[in-house]
Amino acid sequence: MMAPLTIFPTRTHKGRSLAAAVARLGERQGYAVTIADPQRATQPNLLQACLGPGVVVFDATIEGQRQHNYAVALYALKYIPFALVVSRSYRPTNFAPWLDGGYPLYPRRLTNDQILQWLDRQLVRLRQHVPRPKNLQGLSNAEKLVDMGLEESKERHRRQGAIFISFRGSYEQTVARLAEVTRRGVKKSVRFFSTGELAPPNELMSAQDRWGVMRTINDWIADSQELWIFWSADYLASWWTRAELTLLAGQFRQMRSPVLLYDQHAGATRRLEGVKSADIGSENRDLIAERLLIARNPEWLSRSDRSSAVPGGLDRHGSPALTTGRYRDDLIFSCPACTSRAVRRAPPRPPRHFNDLMSFDVRDVIDIAGPSLMVIDRNQLAASISNVVGSVICPNCDSALPVYEGPPRYWFYPVRTSPVPPFVERATGPGGAILESRPVYMLG
Ligand SMILES: [Zn+2]
Repeated sequence: MMAPLTIFPTRTHKGRSLAAAVARLGERQGYAVTIADPQRATQPNLLQACLGPGVVVFDATIEGQRQHNYAVALYALKYIPFALVVSRSYRPTNFAPWLDGGYPLYPRRLTNDQILQWLDRQLVRLRQHVPRPKNLQGLSNAEKLVDMGLEESKERHRRQGAIFISFRGSYEQTVARLAEVTRRGVKKSVRFFSTGELAPPNELMSAQDRWGVMRTINDWIADSQELWIFWSADYLASWWTRAELTLLAGQFRQMRSPVLLYDQHAGATRRLEGVKSADIGSENRDLIAERLLIARNPEWLSRSDRSSAVPGGLDRHGSPALTTGRYRDDLIFSCPACTSRAVRRAPPRPPRHFNDLMSFDVRDVIDIAGPSLMVIDRNQLAASISNVVGSVICPNCDSALPVYEGPPRYWFYPVRTSPVPPFVERATGPGGAILESRPVYMLG
C-alpha cells in the first residue's frame, strides 16, 4: 500500500531544490510524494497532512522576510512523530519539533546535503510505520496521535538516557570519556548535554531562557533510571548545577531512580544517602513545594517549555516572576572572576548525604539570584554596545567583562484565526509579527 509523503518547501531556490531532492528520495523508498505549493499552503493543509496516513516533511528555514513557512507552522508539530521538521537555519527558541537532527544548533547552519542524509535515515525508519492505521488518522483521533507522540518521546529518553550525568562544563571531556566507558561496560545508555547543545555557555540569558533550558533537562532527569553527579570542587558553584539539584529534589515524590555520586579520584560511583526519604531540609523542601511548585503544580515547568512557551504570555496563573517583562528582558549572568574566587575560598568535600548537596539557598535558584549573579536589562545593554562590542562592569569585583552581540534568536508566534466574524487570520506576535527577532549577547 502506498504511503503518502507531503513536503512543505520554502519558496526560495534552496527550498525548492531541497523539495525536489526529498521527492526523489521518497519515491525511491516507495512513498507517494506530494509537494505543497509554498505560495498557497495553509495551516489547515499542514494539519490535514499531519493527521493523514503518511509522513510530512516541513522546511522551517528562516530565509528573508516573506520567504519562510512560519505562517503555516503549528506548535502541534512537536507532538507528531510522523512530521519531520528540517531547516538550514537554527530554529526559533520556542519552536521544537518532535525529533531533533533535521536542523542545526544555534548559531550554525546545515546544507541541503546534510539535511538529505538525515532525512534518508528517517524516511527509511518511518516507512515501516506508514500508512498509519485508520484509528490514528483524522481530527477525531488527534488526541490519540498526540498521546502516542508523547509516550514515544519518553520512550526515546529512556532508550537514550538510562543514565543522566549532571556536571560542570569544564569537565566535559572527562565526562564524555566516562560516558563512553560506561556505555560499553554496563551496556546502559548515557545522556549528558555537551557545550552549546542547549545554548552557548557564554550567552547572556533571561530567566525565561534559563527555565526553558531547565525544562529540557528536567524531562531527561524524569525519564532516566539513574542520575549521576559528576563531583568536582566547583560542582556547586554554578546556578545551573544547583538548579538541576533543585529539579531533582522536586521530583522526589515520583522518583524511583537512585542518585549516584561519581568520584573522579576513586574512579567509581557511590550511592548518595537520603535521596529516597526526601529529607532535604524542611525549609528548602517547603520552598521547592511552594515557590517552584514543581511538586504540586508541574504546570509551572510545563509553561516554561521551550518548544511552545508563549513569549511574555506566561501570566495566566499569576506568578509574579512570570508576568513582568523582566522575565524575558533582564539578562542574568555570573561573573567568571567572582565564581572562581568563591570556589577557591571554600572547596567543599565530596558529599555523602543528599542534604550536603542541598546546602545552598534554594531561593537563589528559584529567583535566579545570588552573590555571583548579575542582572542587566537587555535593552540597556543594546544601547550601551557600540560597534557590536561593549562591556559590563561586575558590581562585586569591578571587573570589566567584554560583551559582544551574536546572531539574533527568533521567537515564533503562530497565526490564529479570530474567534468572531470576519474570522481574520493574523499573527500573534508584537506588531503582528510571526517571527520576532531578539538580539543575543555573549560574554567575550
Ligand atoms: Zn565579579
